[in-house]
Amino acid sequence: MTIPATQAAVIFEKSNGPLIYKTDWPVTQAKELKPGEALVKITHSGVCHTDLHALKGDWPLDTRLPLVGGHEGVGTIVAIGEGTTTNRKIGDRVGIKWLADSCLDCEVCRRGQEATCSNAVCSGFAVHGTFQQYAVSYVRHLTPIPAGLDPVQAGPILCAGVTVWKAIKQSNTNPGDYILISGAGGGLGHLALQYAAAIGLRPIAVDTGEEKRKLCMELGAEKFIDFRTSQDIKADIRAATDGLGPHAAVIASSSAAAYNDALEYLRNHGTLVAVGLPADSYIKANVFWTVFRALRIVGSYVGNRQDAIEALDFAARGKVKAIVKVQPLKSLAEVYEGMEKGTVSGRIVLETGA
Ligand code: NAD
Ligand code: ZN
Repeated sequence: MTIPATQAAVIFEKSNGPLIYKTDWPVTQAKELKPGEALVKITHSGVCHTDLHALKGDWPLDTRLPLVGGHEGVGTIVAIGEGTTTNRKIGDRVGIKWLADSCLDCEVCRRGQEATCSNAVCSGFAVHGTFQQYAVSYVRHLTPIPAGLDPVQAGPILCAGVTVWKAIKQSNTNPGDYILISGAGGGLGHLALQYAAAIGLRPIAVDTGEEKRKLCMELGAEKFIDFRTSQDIKADIRAATDGLGPHAAVIASSSAAAYNDALEYLRNHGTLVAVGLPADSYIKANVFWTVFRALRIVGSYVGNRQDAIEALDFAARGKVKAIVKVQPLKSLAEVYEGMEKGTVSGRIVLETGA
């Protein structure tokens, strides 16, 4: 297999700086890989709102700079570092997700909570990600892609899909319960509606605009509530859920307001699953009502290797389908503009041309 010396990649050199499309970005060669590393030829990468947070630098964490973003990458292993022990082989189809590596040896890793490992390494944040044609990643955290699953479909599952599947598993719900998805027309949300419906939950969608309303209703929402036009969003949500509020709410929008509303409209014993990551925000929970109404607040951060395999399996079985627009790698800046304005429905997947 020939590995070129240079490749196409999108990089940024400073927080909030311009995105630069390069065709001469260096490719790490097979002999330069360290034990445990693999070189993956990336054909497709989904664009997650997290990539936009990384560019803006609006989280209380520093990104590596300069940086190639991206963490929904799909491709083929083209080289594995000498001295690596693994069942993966050159030619295997794999995905690179947000969690590029963790130690697999500490308490949280042993418990399958590897995203919170103190040695966790994130793709498109601490190491160069998937907005390039050849990415170096850690072989033990690569996700096998089921045979027959279209790479365009696999991309969005690697972050958006696994994250919402995990969030739903943490929602303390049973089949037949109402689950509210905030940001339901976006990348995470439109997949959350489908995972919820697939396991017998009754999804209620909150987002804005006619296009997202139509999308959410087609994907299994029982009701769509437009957060911009609703006169009283909490009353509308209660009205859509037998007057009592949903059993759980997955907040998959990067809106701080969505969090505080949830604590008011949730049913008693309801669970708020925090997923979206608005900058500089707090969840304001009234202690009395949190206790008196027995509410739960749960943070949910991506998923582990098993969650990723489960999430992809729903897609491979046709139970979950990402609604995707495919665009060239060099259009990343436009994608972010749309995301910022809230005009992206479903997910955008970049084709790298590799
Ligand atoms: P997206 O831009 O594709 O979708 C967000 C959606 O939220 C849009 O459809 C938008 O219209 C909607 N929205 C905006 N304000 C809203 C409000 N007040 N109420 C309801 N909906 C509203 O973004 P995405 O890629 O789906 O990511 C969403 C958030 O989740 C981001 O903050 C991202 O960083 C975060 N995220 C978290 C994890 C995790 O592990 N917890 C993983 C991936 C992404
Ligand atoms: Zn993501």
